Amino acid sequence: MGELLNGLKRSCYCCDVNEEMTGKSVTVMGWVSRKRIFSHFSFILLRDRSGIVQVVVDEQSSPEAVLAQDKLLKSEYVIAVTGTVQKRTPENINPKMKTGTIEIAAEQIKILSESELPPFQVDEKAEVGTELRLKYRYLDLRRPNVAENIILRHKITMAARNFLSDEGFLEIETPMLTKSTPEGARDYLVPSRVHPGNFYALPQSPQLFKQLLMVSGFDKYFQIARCFRDEDLRADRQPEFTQIDMELSFVEEDDVMSLNERFIQRIFKEIKGIDIQLPLRRIPWIEAMNRYGSDKPDTRFEIELKDISDIVRGTEFVVFASALEAGGSVRAIVAPGCADMPRKQIDKLVEVAKTYGAKGLAYIQLKEDGVKSSISKFFSEEETDRIIEAVGANKGDLILICADKNKVVWDALGALRLDVARRLDLIKDDTYDLLWVTEFPMFEYSEEEGRFVAMHHPFTSPMDEDLDKFMQGDVENVRAKAYDMVLNGCEVGGGSIRIHREDIQEQTFKLLNFEKEDAHERFGFLLDAFKYGAPPHGGLAFGLDRLVMLLCGAESIRDVIAFPKVKDASCLLTDAPNKVDEKQLEELCIAVTETEEENV
Ligand code: ASP
Repeated sequence: MGELLNGLKRSCYCCDVNEEMTGKSVTVMGWVSRKRIFSHFSFILLRDRSGIVQVVVDEQSSPEAVLAQDKLLKSEYVIAVTGTVQKRTPENINPKMKTGTIEIAAEQIKILSESELPPFQVDEKAEVGTELRLKYRYLDLRRPNVAENIILRHKITMAARNFLSDEGFLEIETPMLTKSTPEGARDYLVPSRVHPGNFYALPQSPQLFKQLLMVSGFDKYFQIARCFRDEDLRADRQPEFTQIDMELSFVEEDDVMSLNERFIQRIFKEIKGIDIQLPLRRIPWIEAMNRYGSDKPDTRFEIELKDISDIVRGTEFVVFASALEAGGSVRAIVAPGCADMPRKQIDKLVEVAKTYGAKGLAYIQLKEDGVKSSISKFFSEEETDRIIEAVGANKGDLILICADKNKVVWDALGALRLDVARRLDLIKDDTYDLLWVTEFPMFEYSEEEGRFVAMHHPFTSPMDEDLDKFMQGDVENVRAKAYDMVLNGCEVGGGSIRIHREDIQEQTFKLLNFEKEDAHERFGFLLDAFKYGAPPHGGLAFGLDRLVMLLCGAESIRDVIAFPKVKDASCLLTDAPNKVDEKQLEELCIAVTETEEENV
């Protein structure tokens, strides 16, 4: 028998104690969240992962030993309390607490562990800076609101496992030490000691292995998979993140989408008690871009992009004319009721547009006393009226117009419609807007790389309707059998039907400018496998972190990961990444030639 607990057994969690247990003896164990001392008694708020219960230590009724222990207690001491559940007196009832109507009258208190003064108050309400929270994450995780997210994450993961297992999926692990996967980001590399100068890559996703599992005949695979992507610093990205990853054989787009609709429906029902109506809406990519300027449209509010290219074509305004000549477009959005927006605020909107590459924005204000426009010099009253009519603006509205390459116009106006909706408070918090975006282009032009790249990944199949064009080498007009699930303007999942025909795969590599040898060097093992009977297959992966974040209403992905990293990919708790011993480097035959510090 352990000396410390001496046979003492916890009977329930703090928040399991309820009115029905009145008069019963319970033993709870946890951390002292707070202590309030009055003249003849004290209250201890005791916390465990379930939440908080109040313990009362009363001089009149508690034995000497209990009183003596109570005097020693400080915040974050770990204690065991045995006592009788009693109803609180009416003035002590706290409707905000789950256990707000009861308390435990202590009969025995045992200190199990002491605590130093913590660096911040371990309390829901305490405002603590991110750095401090993450440096002492183990304390931060004690805060009930933070712990709740982690518990919810567990519930979502379990719901996913149960759903997929019920549907006949097998959970199969794929390697962490592997070869580079083609998801488009930079790899994290791990040096091999046994093969000096050689490196493993940590997986960006289990993509290639799950396709191999289909060749193996496993038919329905899933994995709660850790993925690694060494991307440039971007807000709310984590270098390692988790996917609910799946792959199925003998399926088409509809099969994968309808399965995953039922999946998300079940998650919403189990986790939020919300009924999601199926089937989910499907919007082809081009429609999403044209109407919302985004491939992950937030359709909880109505502002939409309007193409006014045809109306302004032939006008003298050189900005519009040159955008159209270059194959771009002129589009607009209406900010309802914003005609009187001060100049300074309009300038801010222009700044937003500029971050997406727009050179500027034109605007028309439909003021009470007439129309005011930043482009009035170039447009007759009649022409301006035609624009107003085409975008459906009314008196009191503000029209924002952008002219450029399609991508710039979509991105800029897509961001502005969100910006305007937030300013006007048009987005209702408690609504869940779920839809599919389908028919993505196979390829997109990457300015950075100066070539076409796969929009999803190079194993995604072209649409049957576009196969001829694809085989003839058209990179611009071929759509893929790819689909993304979008929730409230965030991509929560994405996948595709894969190529399982060798000639189509070779053609994809050719169009991506992959030398045949290069493709074989990188993915030869998959291409070889396809020679031995590859079933038609496809799949999808959900971003678990983002899904949990949206379901628990957290503001950052960090809030739903037990030990997250910060923006520069470092861990404030462990100080990773860090320098390693010379000896370790020698064993790996690695010489560090230049460090960042030396570089500055
Ligand atoms: N591997 C893909 C991704 O990570 C998902 C999929 O195609 O199944 O986005």
